[in-house]
Amino acid sequence: MEIDLRKLFQGEDGFDRNSNGVIERQYELDLSGVELGGAKPFCAPVRVRARLRGFAGSVELFARVEYTMSMPCDRCAEPVTREYTKEFSHTLVRESREDTGEFITVPDERLDLDALVLEDLLMDMPGQYLCREDCKGLCPSCGKNWNEGPCKCGAPQVDPRLEVLRQLL
Ligand SMILES: [Zn+2]
Ligand SMILES: [Zn+2]
Repeated sequence: MEIDLRKLFQGEDGFDRNSNGVIERQYELDLSGVELGGAKPFCAPVRVRARLRGFAGSVELFARVEYTMSMPCDRCAEPVTREYTKEFSHTLVRESREDTGEFITVPDERLDLDALVLEDLLMDMPGQYLCREDCKGLCPSCGKNWNEGPCKCGAPQVDPRLEVLRQLL
């Protein structure tokens, strides 16, 4: 969804003195085509609620995003589906005052909210996606899912968390 911010930046008659007005949007965003590590995690429509408030020279954006993500577990590859609610806020400006990443520049006073929401969701992704904290993973030798019990191939079963530690040491 593209949002025209001109009214918020410029203000119009009828708005109070402290604010140039408010725009609110509520919609469903289809991210089902987005690919992440070979998977398409956003299986259900992403629900977006956004509120934009204009001030002299800037617009404050607050967004609440509800979404379902389905990803294979990093250790055992079982599909995991979870629901999330995330909140984001940004300051939108026409020209960047400083290059801190805190401000988002919208030189043509139009905001591509879909792109921003997607960027925020991807930035907020966990580094590791696990079906459960203590997932035992798959046997590297026979491929048996160790969460379902030990395998018979005789490979030593290593706690993946200890394995990470061992590699660090
Ligand atoms: Zn797992
Ligand atoms: Zn095995």
